[in-house]
Amino acid sequence: MTFSVHGQAVSRGIAIGRAVLVASSRMDVAHYFIGEDQIHGELSRLRDARDAVVAEITRVQQTLLESADKGAHHELTALLDVHLMLLQDTQLQEGVKHWVQERHYNAEWALTSQLEQLAKQFDEMEDPYLRERKADLEQVVERMLRHMRGVASPVGRAPAVADGPGEDLRDDPLVLVAHDLSPADMLQFKQSVFAGFVTDVGGKTSHTAIVARSMDIPAVVGARTASHLVQQDDWVIIDGDTGVVIVNPSPIVLAEYGFKQRQGEVERERLSRIKNTPAVTLDGERVELLANIEQPEDSTPAFSVGAVGLELNRTAFLFMGRDGKLPDEEEQYEAYRRAVEGMHGLPVTIRTVDVGADKPLDRSNRDDHLNPALGLRAIRWSLSEPAMFLTQLRAVLRAAAHGKINLLIPMLAHSSEILQVKALLARAKEQLDARAAVYGKVKLGAMIEVPAAALAVRMFLKHFDYLSIGTNDLIQYTLAIDRVDETVAHLYDPLHPAVLQLVANTISECRAQGKGVSVCGEMAGDVTMTRLLLGLGLRSFSMHPSQILAVKQQILRADTRKLRAWAQEVVHSDDPAALMAD
Ligand code: PEP
Ligand code: MG
Repeated sequence: MTFSVHGQAVSRGIAIGRAVLVASSRMDVAHYFIGEDQIHGELSRLRDARDAVVAEITRVQQTLLESADKGAHHELTALLDVHLMLLQDTQLQEGVKHWVQERHYNAEWALTSQLEQLAKQFDEMEDPYLRERKADLEQVVERMLRHMRGVASPVGRAPAVADGPGEDLRDDPLVLVAHDLSPADMLQFKQSVFAGFVTDVGGKTSHTAIVARSMDIPAVVGARTASHLVQQDDWVIIDGDTGVVIVNPSPIVLAEYGFKQRQGEVERERLSRIKNTPAVTLDGERVELLANIEQPEDSTPAFSVGAVGLELNRTAFLFMGRDGKLPDEEEQYEAYRRAVEGMHGLPVTIRTVDVGADKPLDRSNRDDHLNPALGLRAIRWSLSEPAMFLTQLRAVLRAAAHGKINLLIPMLAHSSEILQVKALLARAKEQLDARAAVYGKVKLGAMIEVPAAALAVRMFLKHFDYLSIGTNDLIQYTLAIDRVDETVAHLYDPLHPAVLQLVANTISECRAQGKGVSVCGEMAGDVTMTRLLLGLGLRSFSMHPSQILAVKQQILRADTRKLRAWAQEVVHSDDPAALMAD
């Protein structure tokens, strides 16, 4: 029977293969009571398993250290350190001992019981970074269980596939379906026979997703029930572009995706040829392609695809998971200076701290309000913590002495907020003057993320050098849809006429006044939107580096003179989607 499951698309491309299932550790462990005389044996089985996993992880780390691109694996090595620490954790060891000695649980049962107990403690932690360590604990326990079953990690070994009568399945490509995958599994994955993977759990920022993206493997995470529904050897299509997993597809669907897959490969190869081609339309309009990056270190891949500037979107990376201890001016200055110096004269946009709602900072920023997306987030939070905001402004101003910086303020709506931002920027300069510190000029920009801002765009233009449209939030707030709530995800529509009119209005007002305007939400990297945005007059797009070449290709094929009238028609239509193919 054909069916599909949906998850988060985390790593693009299409993988087609037969499913190899990795059972969730906690579902299939044996549960039985042991006798007094078996306690010693069970405890030594646990010790052996732990030692084996420690040795396994240490080996993987060693391989990483010796590999040519060890810099690329820096994050993975750090994660493996966390796994080693968890394995040595006394709470885990003592707890397991307790279950075996006091309750006479068998080793596996004791291990999973202790896991459940610790998992609850992790769930109750306020710090999101620490909460996420629960997944790491689950992964190391799963590895220990595999050892106790006498089975090594299923990734990397030749998987067992059932031979049907008269058919040899060994030549079929294989995809992995698991409840979760550990970073160590992911590394072995690279050398394994698997063409892609699906996991039940995980979000776009889960470690598994991060590693999948860095390896460029088609993957879908958070597919919830996938590992329950998919059977061993089922044919599975993983569409890493849309997050869809199709199980037992009909021959027609299989052929269609096979075609898409081959097309994708050819396309990627072809796209790499326009790396150095300037982004200019057929009618000679030059378009600026900027890369949204999370950390200064991400700038190298951005330049390799021809980005002409960077948006350092998540200065929050400096602020998160620090247990309320915010980075001081010096630490921020150093980080921003490094980013700017790495630009070789190209501009870097620094967004002021944008935390809250789906981007919690840590316990000091924990949001237990009913509507966190409408609460104290982004600039609202910065203005409520003027000392913190001034520190960031001073650090940015000082870094501006080393290169071009565009300062970008998220989620403004009110004129009072605009005036406060400007007053605080002036105050930051005064503070720097008072101590004779060297600083540079910044261009000041506002993000248009709230419908109120898009409608009052003229008010914004009186105060700002440029505007940047954050379509992710603009769509959320225009359509009253929580962007992280999967139950309303189907209503999240970039082509809603209201959204398009707000985007169009912002672009045209900026152009009329000769001010710069860009789009920095996901819409900018969506190739189906490129022509429309060009037709509306947009000439600056900011997106994830992996999207840049595909968008550039659309630009090279576009003639903006022909797109203008059509774009207006789309924006003013009741059914813009119907006109998009024209
Ligand atoms: C946006 O809202 O479109 C945006 C770029 O910001 P973020 O996704 O970080 O909220
Ligand atoms: Mg936003």
